[in-house]
Amino acid sequence: MVQQYRCPAMLSHSTHSPTEVLVMNSGSSSLKFSLIDHSTEEVRVQGLAESLGTPDAVLHLSRVGREKEIYGIPNAGHSQAIATVIDQIDGSRIGAVGHRVVHGGEAFSGSIRINPAALAAIRHCVPLAPLHNPANLAGIEAAIERFPALPHVAVFDTAFHQTMPRHAFLYAIPHAFYEEHKVRRYGFHGTSHRFVSAEAARLLGKDPADLQLITAHLGNGCSACAVKGGLSVDTTMGLTPLEGLVMGTRSGDVDPNLHQFLAAALGKSLDEITAILNRESGLLGLSGLSNDMRQLAEAADQGHSRARLAIEVFCYRLAKGLLALAAGLDRIDAVVFTGGIGENSAAVREKTLSHLRILGPVLDAQLNAKHGRESGGSITGPDSRLLALVIPTNEELVIAREAARFLDHSINPPSR
Ligand code: ADP
Repeated sequence: MVQQYRCPAMLSHSTHSPTEVLVMNSGSSSLKFSLIDHSTEEVRVQGLAESLGTPDAVLHLSRVGREKEIYGIPNAGHSQAIATVIDQIDGSRIGAVGHRVVHGGEAFSGSIRINPAALAAIRHCVPLAPLHNPANLAGIEAAIERFPALPHVAVFDTAFHQTMPRHAFLYAIPHAFYEEHKVRRYGFHGTSHRFVSAEAARLLGKDPADLQLITAHLGNGCSACAVKGGLSVDTTMGLTPLEGLVMGTRSGDVDPNLHQFLAAALGKSLDEITAILNRESGLLGLSGLSNDMRQLAEAADQGHSRARLAIEVFCYRLAKGLLALAAGLDRIDAVVFTGGIGENSAAVREKTLSHLRILGPVLDAQLNAKHGRESGGSITGPDSRLLALVIPTNEELVIAREAARFLDHSINPPSR
């Protein structure tokens, strides 16, 4: 039986200065969250509630310097999960809540404080992200219910890519589809591409305005982005996050006629084929084993030929995607690897660079083995014509920073 949770944090809210930001990332059956001190950027608490809406719903919570905690929250939805989180943390210093929102369409080129009009605009984008935006909205509504007086800030995956020129974002289909239905390429993972491109500039001691980069975010979802002078000028994902690179379970680019072919050959519906391309393809579909790169790497080492093939296709298609993005740049100052695979898999980086030989990379094996999630840096040697970097991403920190901007304004409104 799920208990009703009170919210003691809200009652004591006024007694402390608000120095913390709650960052929320709501999926359809999950809720990732972090409590971040915005002045020190220290993560105080982070956790994941998963299997929401099922009897197995569970909350994993980690506090700095403490054992991991696990709470059963059977049948809890987003609202109940947030209530449990609030009960377990000291919420008295929370001054703002930052929400990841996947699709902002063309309405948002930056983060916004959520108000009824913004909620309506996010809801308007549901047809463009039918799996993600409803889950994001559920999280936002549940958090507003818990913290009605705080600023809630939406940070969009699509916003960073709103600087793409028309020739990069339009599909070559009848123009009315764009004008009337907003069918175009949007791109995703913008928070990560933005963060690692800024970090690359910091690492290289350069002004972002002077840099031209290609960033590769390789997690369960994968996308790459051409970043010119700090702005996205092209990216591999499109109208939806299915376009582009090979991913964990997503196919990435296929022949646009594939739906019709499979419908005729297998008698499957459009919905069924779309589900196969989203959930049963990519590394999982090719290997027949797993969508998890760690598992595939182990299997490949033990001679599993389809695991090897899956990794080979993944790296080749990635290299091809990176080269295609070069069309948006005058030069490539660096290629940046990030995300779970980009930060951790030296083998994927090595194989991908081997397919980029036209750009003259010279891998430094020691640096490639050394750099990863804990330490970013160059993985190419001094003789390399192409600079390749590993930079750990931190989407939660970007969301916390964005939300903190609104926190400062709401607590100390600017005098003008
Ligand atoms: P998400 O996109 O869900 O945030 P991550 O960015 O954490 O996911 O990336 C998950 C991917 O990173 C998985 O394919 C996982 O196998 C891979 N990964 C994590 N650690 C390693 C590692 N040491 N070697 C290879 N792949 C890894």
